[in-house]
Amino acid sequence: VHQLADPTVGLEDLLVSPLHLAPEPSQPLPVALFGAQRANSMGVDLSVTSQRQPLLDALPTTPVPVVTETDPAALPAAFERCATAARVWREVPVGERAQALRRSADALEAELPRFCALLVQEAFKTWGDAVAEVREAVDFLRYYAVEAERVMAPIELPGPTGESNTLLLTARGVWVCISPWNFPLAIFAGQVAAALATGNGVLAKPAEQTPAVAQAMVDLLHRHGVPSDVLQLHHGAGETVGAALVAQPGVAGVVFTGSTQVAKIIQRALAAKDGPIVPLIAETGGINAMLVDSTALPEQVADAVVQSAFRSAGQRCSALRLLCVHEVIADGVIEMIRGAARELVVGDPAQLATDVGPVIDREAFDNIERHVARLAREAHDLLPPQALPAEPAHLVPPRMFEVKAVADMTQEIFGPVLHVLRWRGEPEAVIDQINALGYGLTLGIQTRIDSRAQALATRAHVGNVYVNRNIIGAVVGVQPFGGEGLSGTGPKAGGPHYLLRFCAEQTVTVNT
Ligand code: GLU
Repeated sequence: VHQLADPTVGLEDLLVSPLHLAPEPSQPLPVALFGAQRANSMGVDLSVTSQRQPLLDALPTTPVPVVTETDPAALPAAFERCATAARVWREVPVGERAQALRRSADALEAELPRFCALLVQEAFKTWGDAVAEVREAVDFLRYYAVEAERVMAPIELPGPTGESNTLLLTARGVWVCISPWNFPLAIFAGQVAAALATGNGVLAKPAEQTPAVAQAMVDLLHRHGVPSDVLQLHHGAGETVGAALVAQPGVAGVVFTGSTQVAKIIQRALAAKDGPIVPLIAETGGINAMLVDSTALPEQVADAVVQSAFRSAGQRCSALRLLCVHEVIADGVIEMIRGAARELVVGDPAQLATDVGPVIDREAFDNIERHVARLAREAHDLLPPQALPAEPAHLVPPRMFEVKAVADMTQEIFGPVLHVLRWRGEPEAVIDQINALGYGLTLGIQTRIDSRAQALATRAHVGNVYVNRNIIGAVVGVQPFGGEGLSGTGPKAGGPHYLLRFCAEQTVTVNT
């Protein structure tokens, strides 16, 4: 439970002291929380604050850490060092481990401009997205610190006279953490913090596109009390270093965020190993939809769609891919989206005014281009591309195409490309078609009929349902995040059940 800055006090406060854990986690959430979350979750408008200068100054002065790739042949020895150190770490009282995470959270908050500069340089985040991401990483560190103390407290259970029964959670051992480039700080920090808080050792492999942000985060954790053998960073490609990490004989668990395809490769590799059954926590992709009925507010829909589909260049696994809008209001809604999308500034992420920066690399750019070229031949073009600056490379303009059926959505396209479907008849039928895609991450519902929203949410097989708002930017401890089916295994990151999967359970029965 977090107490965030009062949203009415302005961005200065968001930048200087964004998040504090409430002293009493059981206190009810302050009503003011929700405005601040929104700023936290969707990027922050930096154009109106006097505090933007520290951020801009950090850009030229922040060196990007140089990293070296791990030779897979060195991993068995690295694993042994981690396992040995983890045997000591698991015996450290949970409160001390939590303190190391809290000190790290404070330091990260204090170093917000440097980490934002790294995110802008290495991941091409806009400044608003970068601030939001540092804040999310801070949230993860503090949340899992509190959660570890909560879930790892021994539970006394009833028994007959002369017997005591205690349920304990203990660390499992060495976890492999494999994290993505789209949230190279927040998701990386979340995975690692969860494993460390519960007393596990960590061999982490960040995405090869974004090693420096991870390196800076690990250096920070080491400086604030996490032993260097307990938390090790191993850089390299998934096919080589990632595969070699997963293959280490003693791995106690793997936590992975990335594509469904790679999650299945990891699952098969773990299943093929001799020895114990190894848990996998996978957060993967989604073909996320928003269902809009004829009672929805068009302005609200347009705002939610533009944020969900085009912000962050569509490079969130929560991002909106398919807008299912009732035919009665479709023309008006499409026109509003078109108007709002044309206002987005697509360009250099280092510029404060930029709303949509480049996609991560050439491969991502080519994938999106291929998909758009096919749609341009086969589908009705609802949003022709805006003119783009020549630099930087890999800019993709927001696009919108009309498709004929939900089933036309066969793959997740990780970019600012929205597919629009007009529907009529029963909304339940549309939800059934969305369910049939097999993914289950985020879903938007826009309606003014409350009972319908509730019924459709229940019918949908998705992890996160958002009613009458955007569908991105889940807040740690407030909107636990993660999907089902092709979208992942659960448990949800930033939720009260997440840490349990990192632990073994032990019942101790004593004849007194
Ligand atoms: N948690 C993020 C959100 O709610 C998405 C994470 C991801 O893209 O992997 O937008």
